[in-house]
Amino acid sequence: MLLPAHDYVKPRTLEEGLGVLSRSGAAVRLLGGGTDVTFNMRNRLMQPAVLLSIRELPELLGVEEWPDGSLRIGAACRLADLAAHQAVNSRHPALAAAFKAVASSHVRNMATLGGNLNLDTRCWYANQTQEWRAAKGGCLKTGVDACHVVASVKTCVAINNADTPPALIALDATITLASAGGRRTLRLADYYRADGVTHTVRRTDEVLTEVIVPPTPDRLVFIKDTARLGIDFAYGTIAARRAADGRTRLVLGSLGPAPVVLRRAAVIATQRGLADTHIEEAAEAAREDLGVVSNLYTPAAYKRDLARELVRRALTALRDMP
Ligand SMILES: Cc1cc2nc3c(=O)[nH]c(=O)nc-3n(C[C@H](O)[C@H](O)[C@H](O)COP(=O)(O)OP(=O)(O)OC[C@H]3O[C@@H](n4cnc5c(N)ncnc54)[C@H](O)[C@@H]3O)c2cc1C
Repeated sequence: MLLPAHDYVKPRTLEEGLGVLSRSGAAVRLLGGGTDVTFNMRNRLMQPAVLLSIRELPELLGVEEWPDGSLRIGAACRLADLAAHQAVNSRHPALAAAFKAVASSHVRNMATLGGNLNLDTRCWYANQTQEWRAAKGGCLKTGVDACHVVASVKTCVAINNADTPPALIALDATITLASAGGRRTLRLADYYRADGVTHTVRRTDEVLTEVIVPPTPDRLVFIKDTARLGIDFAYGTIAARRAADGRTRLVLGSLGPAPVVLRRAAVIATQRGLADTHIEEAAEAAREDLGVVSNLYTPAAYKRDLARELVRRALTALRDMP
């Protein structure tokens, strides 16, 4: 399938690119590695007038270690480079594992961190060819007031299927959004919206330029459940973090339109500890808390069971870490 006609713009500096966005942001689609955008364009899920390539902008490249121990990761860094990066591996091995979990090595050689954090939401109905979709009619994601996954919903239930947000959210990462009007910083945890159509709070004139990961002595594990590690999108992921005093944080991915921070399960693990019975209790709470719906690969009941299993496996791994 051919790409729809579009202009291709490759600015030399971030300011130049932000100028293009401020003039015609809604007609522009940012291009990182292009591993997702080009698929979606071929399927006519998006037909931007302009593709704005940002992956070689110097301001978006490089990993820096700051004196306070934070890592500053440019949004155009390729996932393959990040998965192998010495500072990422030595400080946050579970984050390196999340980078390495995305797709295949071929894809990671192209794909950028910014592209993964902004990956468009996915749905068994919408992520098909235009002809396939036309047979059933439009949906919320294609501008029609209907959903072919859950007929009663008013908000799109397409899934955030990106592998890297849960680990970065668990690590309290912040991001910078740049526009011609200035810069703003926010917690990655506050970036996502539980709406498959407008799934982040990014404005169309903004670029995500960097991710700051603060230092921590806490333990972190990342687990991805999927059919074939090494190529497939996740059925579900979890990042679990535990401090020396027992404070626990649990973040699930790929089970809804946004990453889910599990509150009740984390409170149980924090307050009662990680004996087998308490892990079971926390895992059961996760199953009830999630509120998942059927979409992508598996039915809702399977997704709830998977959430329970991911929490059980993650808490057990945290407890058994040397
Ligand atoms: C075979 C295959 C398997 C895959 N498996 C996985 C998987 O297992 N896990 C997974 O997470 N993904 C998977 N993907 C999806 C995709 O390849 C990755 O998510 C990848 O990280 C996207 O990065 P990219 O730079 O190529 O994004 P692009 O395709 O360039 O962009 C993706 C989206 O992000 C926006 N964007 C890009 N950079 C920025 C920025 N700096 N600021 C704001 N918006 C930006 C783009 O406009 C676009 O909307 C797979 C893709 C393929 C083809």
